[in-house]
Amino acid sequence: MDFLKTAGLGALSIPLMASLQKLGRLTDTFEETKKMPALFLGHGSPMNAIEDNEFVQGFKKQGESLETPNAILVVSAHWETKGTFVTAMENPRTIHDFGGFPQELFDVQYSAPGHPEFAKELSELIEPKGTVQLDDQWGLDHGSWSVVKHLFPDADVPVLQLSLDYSLSPADHYALAEQLKSLRKKGVLIVGSGNMVHNLRRVDFSKINEHYGYDWAIEANEKMKEWILADNHQSLIDFKKQGTAFDLAIPTDEHYLPLLYSLALKEDQDEVILFNDQPIAGSLTMTSVRIG
Ligand code: ZN
Repeated sequence: MDFLKTAGLGALSIPLMASLQKLGRLTDTFEETKKMPALFLGHGSPMNAIEDNEFVQGFKKQGESLETPNAILVVSAHWETKGTFVTAMENPRTIHDFGGFPQELFDVQYSAPGHPEFAKELSELIEPKGTVQLDDQWGLDHGSWSVVKHLFPDADVPVLQLSLDYSLSPADHYALAEQLKSLRKKGVLIVGSGNMVHNLRRVDFSKINEHYGYDWAIEANEKMKEWILADNHQSLIDFKKQGTAFDLAIPTDEHYLPLLYSLALKEDQDEVILFNDQPIAGSLTMTSVRIG
């Protein structure tokens, strides 16, 4: 309400304030648009940022088919916090949050602007108030820039990140994400970035670039796809109850949870398309989802 105070409107009646907000001129950063799709992108190795391979081609194809969004909001596996934060700086830095890769990868800068006003609006959208706090420290981690750069290579669309609150349950994450639904009609492209099957301790380094998945990886990936296509989100939220294949596929939940954010944005009439649906190195799948 700071804008009301600074405009000398602090004494406005509640109904008048409500109708001013309804007009959407004062608080809404973006105009109404056609509904944007929502994406879940299996990001895999950071090297996908600089390689040209089938997965990169899959990302590029999606990028070419999208209308230019007003902003991109990424829920990345690589930003976990206590409490939920949204990046609110003018110019988010490119974070090279990995080690042991060639200099060429560390040299990548993805200089998309941020959007502080929209970050503030997003934080005010989510109930209860105060759930989403503004962040001025993070930036864009590789879960974000390594894939978004293939969608929008010119880095001319504002990019924000929403963190994963490690104290929330999977159902809490899904419920929070549902509150972001309205942003699709504000031209905001919401991207979950992780991997559905992701067990780095079991990677088969002899098959690092091969379409190869262990039996349990294939089993879990197939089941996940079946439930995604059947809109059976409850079984996906309950991933911890789904047996051994799921336990091995999701040893820690940060790469899986972004999928729940993307699925929660689905509306009844949205078409769901899978792409980049391949296992690699035994214990990872690159399977990605487009909703709408
Ligand atoms: Zn990752």
